[in-house]
Formats: sequence, structure tokens, C-alpha cells
Amino acid sequence: MLKIYNTLTRRLEPFRPLDPENVRMYVCGMTVYDMCHIGHARVLVVFDVVFRYLRHLYGPEHVTYVRNITDIDDKIIQRANERHLDIDTLTARYIEEMHRDAEALNVLPPTFEPRATRHMADIIEMIQTLLDKGYAYQADNGDIYYDVSRFEHYGRLSGKKPEDLRAGARVAVDEAKADPLDFVLWKAAKPGEPSWDSPWGPGRPGWHIECSAMSTHCLGHHFDIHGGGLDLQFPHHENEIAQSEAATGEPFVNVWMHVGFVRVDEEKMSKSLGNFFTIREVTARYPPEVLRYFILTSQYRSPLNYSDVQLDNAKGALTTLYTALRGIEPAGGANLDDPLARKFLAALDDDFNTPEALAVLFELAHGINRVRDSDAQEASRLGGLLTRLGGLLGLLYQDPEAFLRGGPSAGGLSDEEIEAQIAKRNEARKNRDFAESDRIRDALREQGVILEDGPEGTTWRRE
Ligand SMILES: [Zn+2]
Repeated sequence: MLKIYNTLTRRLEPFRPLDPENVRMYVCGMTVYDMCHIGHARVLVVFDVVFRYLRHLYGPEHVTYVRNITDIDDKIIQRANERHLDIDTLTARYIEEMHRDAEALNVLPPTFEPRATRHMADIIEMIQTLLDKGYAYQADNGDIYYDVSRFEHYGRLSGKKPEDLRAGARVAVDEAKADPLDFVLWKAAKPGEPSWDSPWGPGRPGWHIECSAMSTHCLGHHFDIHGGGLDLQFPHHENEIAQSEAATGEPFVNVWMHVGFVRVDEEKMSKSLGNFFTIREVTARYPPEVLRYFILTSQYRSPLNYSDVQLDNAKGALTTLYTALRGIEPAGGANLDDPLARKFLAALDDDFNTPEALAVLFELAHGINRVRDSDAQEASRLGGLLTRLGGLLGLLYQDPEAFLRGGPSAGGLSDEEIEAQIAKRNEARKNRDFAESDRIRDALREQGVILEDGPEGTTWRRE
């Protein structure tokens, strides 16, 4: 039986869906103003494995997975202003880039991918309910805040006490809230900002209310699993619980799952340390399946240490698995009662212990190598099992020859693709469309391709 570590109870618990015919999971997705980095890749891949495994256990048609898109917030507005773009143009570009990354990492599309700007009516309705029930108030500057003192269980998810939080809190000068713990539900529009009409005048939603409104819209008041990165546990998820349970008067979520941080060369990955990698930068150097494999070498709650050595190891490991599969015709109809299959499934049942599950794939690969020359039928049976179990992790989906032929830049752009982008940029420059020309140059740089403009035209090199 599947057991999941529940952040809310701090225990490993048997997973019992509210309705096995409709298992429901919500994961906080990206804020789309920049390229996705490896921290995002980890959240995408980990919950893709959870999604695949729930589909395996309950049937694909009985699992609903929602991963939202935050397409309005301060960073988006700032970035759009810097680039002289409207926010829809900016967010459309980064949504497309995110989808490309997800597809490269063999991440299944979620059942629904709601966007905050497309759910304003749901958001406004929930804020109105919170106002009507006395859980929210409008401040003098027109902003609407959630009144944390009204919610009895505040701090239950993060284990933080409101009085301790209050003592350490600082209130920014432009905020008009009554209590430092109160958080904004609706921001009154400032001049020049995008805004939506509401009963309280033009404005835009705070970040936390988006997820409460969209999860309720897509999954109902009470659902099974809510996930996200560990950095979202407080305050984002704490605030989601406060909003949703106050608005509906019902429990919100049964199981909370949080994915650990990515560390780079044993330090926390951060922009200020300059040790920050986008998915595109990594997949310019390694096949995307290697990045996916690497992510699964750590149990999802542990920190994940990113380094070239780890990526090289992941590539070597995948090479071993694909080498075992080379020249084998994997048999269909894999028998999941096989002892190795049972061992693999037991590892996933244990809070998605992917490192142990990967170890079973190696036992199968060694088994194939032992009988490859003596027993073609057994090799084929083991090959079928290996691809079937690998598939539950979203791995081993390629033709072995194709994987083994691919060089270190198999995930990056080919020379032809780079030349085609440069031709497009030259065209834009000729038309004096410098915004487009800069966009193409920046997009190539994200993928590890540096352009140099000289008197002879534009040359390029890989980073
Ligand atoms: Zn969220």
C-alpha cells in the first residue's frame, strides 16, 4: 500500500483517497517571467512520478492533476516593463518555454493547467466570501487583507506559532495591514499597472488567493494531495489553508507534500551566489533524460546535490540501462508479480523512494546481461519488465540506439537550428525590430549559445 509523508501531520501515512474513482492532486506551478531552473525541474519531475504512479494504481482516467500557472505578479509586471512588452506577450513566451522544458523532461501534461488571469471571477468570489464571513477587511489604501487572527489553526502546517511570527515580522512602509501576519488578497491598482474590475475597484489578486480559488474551481473544496517546493510551505501553503478553510468551512487538503531544495556543489542554489542553472543550460550539455534520471537519484524530500560529477554519473547509469536493452526485443505484458517488480513497486509505495526503485532497474539490467547470449526469451522477458518499470518513472522511453548515439549536446540545439535562429534575428535587425532581435539573442544564450556581432556578420559559439 502506498504511504506518503504528510507535512501536515509530520508522519508517514497510508494514502487513502477521498474517492478512488477521482484521485485529486494540486501542485503550485511556475510564475512565468523567466526560464525554468533546476529547482523547477525537480518539482515538475517529482510530481510527474507521483502522477504516473497514481495513474498506475487507480487507472489513468481516475486521477486529476492540476498544476497552475501564476501569470500576474510583481515580478511579471516589472519584467514586462523592462522589456516594453505587455504582460500577455511576456507570459505567453515563458509558458511556451516551460512547456518545451517539461516535454523535453518527459513530463506528462497535467489534466488542467489553470492561469490566474483566466480565473478572476473565481478569485473575486472567494475574496467576497471571506469579506462576508469576517475573515478579511479592506484597508485605508484600498487593499484587501486576510485577518490571520480570525483563523484558529494558523501555523499548523509549518509548525510556526503566530505570536513568534509576529515578533519577527516586519511590515513594509507601503502596506496598510492591521497585523504584521495579515496578507494581501486584493491589491488596489496603481497607475500604469494591469488591473481587473472588482466590487472594490480595479486591482489584482495577491498570490496566495489564486491557488485557493483555482484548486477549488478545478478539484472542489476538499481534495487529496497538495504539493509544491519546500519554500512554499510557509507562508504560501499556510495561507492557502487559512483562505480555503475559512471560505468553505470544510477541510482543504488531506496530504501535503513538499519537495526538497536543490544544492549546487554542496551550496544552496541561488541567483546571488551565481550558481544558478536553467533547465535549458543543463540540457544543452546533457540529454534531458539524464537530468530526469539525476533528479530521481534522491528521494524527493532530501536535498538534491547538483554537480557535473552527479550528472556524469547519471549519464553513465542510463548508458548502462540502455546498453542492456540494446538488441533486445522487450516482451509485452510485463508480469508485475515478478519478485523484482514487487521490490520496485514496494520502493515507490514507501513515500516514492526512487533511489531504491532505480536500484531494481539495475538488477534487471544485470539479469539481461547474464542471459543475453544463453536465453533470448528470458532476456526479452526481463527487457519488457525493465522498460515497463522504467516507464513508471518516465525513463527508458527512447530507442536504445538513439540514446547511445546521442552526444553530450543531444538535448541542445543543432547547428542547423542555431543558424535558422540567427537568420531570423538578421531579418528582425533589417526591419529595425530590435526587441525581437534581442529576444532571439537572449533565448539562444539561455540555451548555451553565444552570439558575437562583428563587421563580418554574426558568429556563434557554444558556451
Ligand atoms: Zn500555490
